[in-house]
Amino acid sequence: MGRLQDKVAIITGAGTGIGKQTALLFAAEGASVVVTDIHEESGSQTANEIVENGGDALFFKHDVRSESDWQQVVQTTVEKYQKIDVLFNNAGIYLIKPLTETTVEEWERLMGINVTGVFLGMKHVLPVMAKQRAGSVINASSVAGLIGAAGHALYGASKGAVRIMTKDVAAEYAPYQIRVNSIHPGYIRTGMAEYGAQMAQVTMEQLGQGYPLGRLGDPMDVAKLVLFLASDDSSYITATEFVIDGGMTSIPS
Ligand code: NDP
Repeated sequence: MGRLQDKVAIITGAGTGIGKQTALLFAAEGASVVVTDIHEESGSQTANEIVENGGDALFFKHDVRSESDWQQVVQTTVEKYQKIDVLFNNAGIYLIKPLTETTVEEWERLMGINVTGVFLGMKHVLPVMAKQRAGSVINASSVAGLIGAAGHALYGASKGAVRIMTKDVAAEYAPYQIRVNSIHPGYIRTGMAEYGAQMAQVTMEQLGQGYPLGRLGDPMDVAKLVLFLASDDSSYITATEFVIDGGMTSIPS
């Protein structure tokens, strides 16, 4: 029996990267996966891959900034499956830019996706979980939500907001037996790390050599952590931040 047998999970930004890998792993572990992404092509591709492998998935084209999109995702999921066990608020964007060059438009777009998106996801899914008196929410923060770095004022502010919002909501929903945790990856091999390497003018390989474990993380490394937090194996864990960074933030180089 899979570790998520008969569970229903919503994963945002699951067209690529960490979200896609997590969707595939969840499905392999027996979950029905509601795959959402702002991009129709990549998102439906993830859902198709799951179905081709014998799993169960639905795709929604979904902008996490839109409250009406969230209402539709949640309503249709409940109509089809009658419950929501897991929410992985994964969708996010990245920007490295000096503070004084950052525009208000960039601030509002990034905060809209990285913070408002997480807020709206919890706002619409938690009432369903509260009725069930069960559920697990995993919010994607970052090491940038824990430590400072030049050029990261906007991204770091968004991920710091996700970190503390996670603990606040965990306190509010603990009486309903709902667990809410955040994950804090270092660079993981996706388009984001590629962008980070470009900005640092190094290769992804060189970026990884700066980490104590000598490599960047893979999406599967993160997917396995999210699986643990989604499953009943983590039934006594809430309001906690999980760093997954090959030792980067804790071992000074
Ligand atoms: P990816 O960019 O690979 O995947 C994220 C997906 O979300 C993309 O398809 C992206 O589209 C989509 N998306 C963007 N905006 C929206 C929106 N408004 N609504 C719905 N979907 C949207 O990201 P990763 O897999 O690398 O990262 C996943 C999460 O992990 C993010 O929250 C990120 O901040 C966090 N993280 C990632 C790290 C890394 O090194 N990869 C390190 C630390 C944290 P588009 O491509 O157009 O942006």
